[in-house]
Amino acid sequence: TGGTATATKRVLLLKPRGFCAGVVRAIDIVQIALDTFGAPVYVRKEIVHNSYVVNDLAQKGAIFVNELDEVPEGARVIYSAHGVSPAVRQRAKERNLKVIDATCPLVTKVHLEAIKFAKQGYSLVLVGHRDHEEVEGTQGEAPTVTQVVSTPAEVDVLVVPDPDKVAYLTQTTLSLDEAGTMIEALKKKFPNIAGPHAQDICYATENRQTAVKNVAHGADLVLVVGSRNSSNSNRLVEVSMNLGTNSHLIDKAQDIEPRWLEGVATVAITAGASAPEILVQEVVQYLQGKGYGSVEEVEVMPENVRFGLPPEIVQAITPAR
Ligand code: SF4
Repeated sequence: TGGTATATKRVLLLKPRGFCAGVVRAIDIVQIALDTFGAPVYVRKEIVHNSYVVNDLAQKGAIFVNELDEVPEGARVIYSAHGVSPAVRQRAKERNLKVIDATCPLVTKVHLEAIKFAKQGYSLVLVGHRDHEEVEGTQGEAPTVTQVVSTPAEVDVLVVPDPDKVAYLTQTTLSLDEAGTMIEALKKKFPNIAGPHAQDICYATENRQTAVKNVAHGADLVLVVGSRNSSNSNRLVEVSMNLGTNSHLIDKAQDIEPRWLEGVATVAITAGASAPEILVQEVVQYLQGKGYGSVEEVEVMPENVRFGLPPEIVQAITPAR
């Protein structure tokens, strides 16, 4: 499809790629907190799932902790973009922590749906990856009535008190195709299942996957810049592999193994929603050094989403009158 090694070696740079509005906002929040309040500022979990971003902010004075118990009583703590459960909010109150919430508004939207359905007496099925922080947070909104499923086999064995009073929600960063399969399986098992008004998979996840889908057939290799623990980045690799185009997840240019490029004429590059553009540019430079002379940006769709800052930050940076 993409030609042979003797064909012109080229790079296709997918757009949209990289930072989404929720990640830009979360990083801005940590940066502004550091500038306004001074270091240290505590952050619960990785602010976004990218090692470069986390190391950079740690150097500037952010202290990343796993749980609130590691934050000194009364100190300032930022919640990561993936959100937290009510149990975490409660713990912060008990410890008198000054909270700044960097939860992505699109994750909050799913939390609100969970609360709404639970109040109406629904059993909840959350489609997602059990060990992911976002899923822990969403499940925590209604822990006694929420079950997490990630495979159709798990849907098969679901047991609920009333099959006519079930609602589903999904993690924001799933593969669209897999989520579709899961929702189909759920609808088959529970024909009256309720769901969100609009899909829970976020625009950034959808757009980056659509871009890969549009270009994968014309490429011999798809490189995805992103960290191992980044859900949406892993899904981009899967989307490409499912279309038959080899793909690798890399944190940085140095991760590229020369054998991946054997016989490869066209390399498509994309980046997960938490991967900074500087790392993408280093990958491009690396490939140029390997003879991939032509670099073409392929814009599959425009993307202009921005989110406002949370009130805790807006207050802190608004001069008192
Ligand atoms: Fe928000 Fe989607 Fe970005 Fe996650 S990937 S932070 S849900 S916009």
